[in-house]
Amino acid sequence: MKIAMASGKGGTGKTTVCVNLAQVYGSPVQLLDCDVEEPNAHLFLKGLVRSQETVTLPIPEVDQSLCDACGECSRFCQYHAIASFGTKPLVFPEMCHGCGGCALVCPKKAIHEVDKRIGVVETIQAENITLIQGLLDVGVAMAPPLIRAVKTRVQPGRPAILDAPPGTSCPVVTVLRGADFVVLVTEPTPFGLHDLKLAVEMVQQLRIPFGVVVNRMGIGDDRVHVFCKNEDIPILLEIPDDRRIAEAYSRGELIVEALPEYRAHFERLREAVLERTSTDLHDPGRVAIRVATPGASTFQR
Ligand code: SF4
Ligand code: SF4
Repeated sequence: MKIAMASGKGGTGKTTVCVNLAQVYGSPVQLLDCDVEEPNAHLFLKGLVRSQETVTLPIPEVDQSLCDACGECSRFCQYHAIASFGTKPLVFPEMCHGCGGCALVCPKKAIHEVDKRIGVVETIQAENITLIQGLLDVGVAMAPPLIRAVKTRVQPGRPAILDAPPGTSCPVVTVLRGADFVVLVTEPTPFGLHDLKLAVEMVQQLRIPFGVVVNRMGIGDDRVHVFCKNEDIPILLEIPDDRRIAEAYSRGELIVEALPEYRAHFERLREAVLERTSTDLHDPGRVAIRVATPGASTFQR
């Protein structure tokens, strides 16, 4: 079971939902921090680093003495990472995905590959949670290869929660591919709704079942709920705009430990996701869980 956590925009509380869901999972779980430009799940989990592995990408290098400037490599590369203008080619390593295709098509066997470091993958054990996080090197623009390296460390047969980067770009799609269910975390504001729509479009195109978590209930308006209702999208959990949650976050504490009354809600989020991966997903957009705390308003439909 692979549950991916995504959001159309940053700052919605996606990592908060990930780490708290992992904490209450109830059995050993793998937590993959795939937000490799800014991994932060480790801030909430106290564990020991078990391993650290360097990740490299094979980048082409042209032997000028063998190259006859035919341009085959340049025509093959869909990423424009190797360019020949009737001349011996130039390589742009920061754009290269390391697919190896240019070396394969070179008729003169003039291309060999050299390893370029792009980052590291760390494995941290924090009680029942095995945190696997990617850390992209400063100045490296290519996140997907490192994300794939994080994903290959998953032990098959054990549940995994994947924390995706914010947005709907290529790195996010790299995280979501192969997921059994996607949880989209949003907030009930016009910006939240705008980015939620983009995220919904993305997961619909990927044909992955999904549901929504609305964070900071009480700010903004009801347009996220109206959208979810109209689109038959289940709202799996609502987390109120509770100052104590923000305070716990700022101290690097898990909500379920700082505020134990929330534990049952995250447990039910897990149940709602598991239930929805095994049953008909076209249930009208009902609220599976509604969290209410004194002083926090919740939207009623
Ligand atoms: S390895 Fe792939 S991405 Fe990199 S330059 Fe060659 S064809 Fe392009
Ligand atoms: S395909 Fe090989 S021979 Fe042709 S331009 Fe590229 S490196 Fe040179």
